[in-house]
This record gives sequence, structure tokens and C-alpha cells, in this order.
Amino acid sequence: MMRIRVSNECVGCGTCSLLSPEVFEIYKNFSIPNQLKVPGHEEECIDAAINCPVGAISVD
Ligand code: SF4
Repeated sequence: MMRIRVSNECVGCGTCSLLSPEVFEIYKNFSIPNQLKVPGHEEECIDAAINCPVGAISVD
């Protein structure tokens, strides 16, 4: 199963939650990925990782 991590480099820009609103939620200027929502949204998660301006999202 794909696993998403967000590092401390996150600046809370919201790009990931725009690209994958089911998986990424912004809380207090930090992105919190919901692992349970990843299945079925893998492509969106990869897209979010590619488009994160600070490279804070890693996909395992
Ligand atoms: S796209 Fe990157 S910097 Fe922006 S909220 Fe998501 S993880 Fe944080």
C-alpha cells in the first residue's frame, strides 16, 4: 500500500489539498495526509508530491 509522508518543510500552501482534497487536509498551516484515503487516490498523491513547491511530500 502506498504511504504518504509530509516533512517539516511544509509551508501550508494548500497545493496538495487542491490536487487531492480527499487525502490532504491543511491544519494550522501544515498538511496532514489521511493514509486511509490514499487507496484509489494514488495518482493524485503523486501529482501532489510532484507539485509541492518545497518537496515536502514523499511517497513510499
Ligand atoms: S503542497 Fe507541500 S508545502 Fe504545500 S501544503 Fe502541501 S505539503 Fe505543504
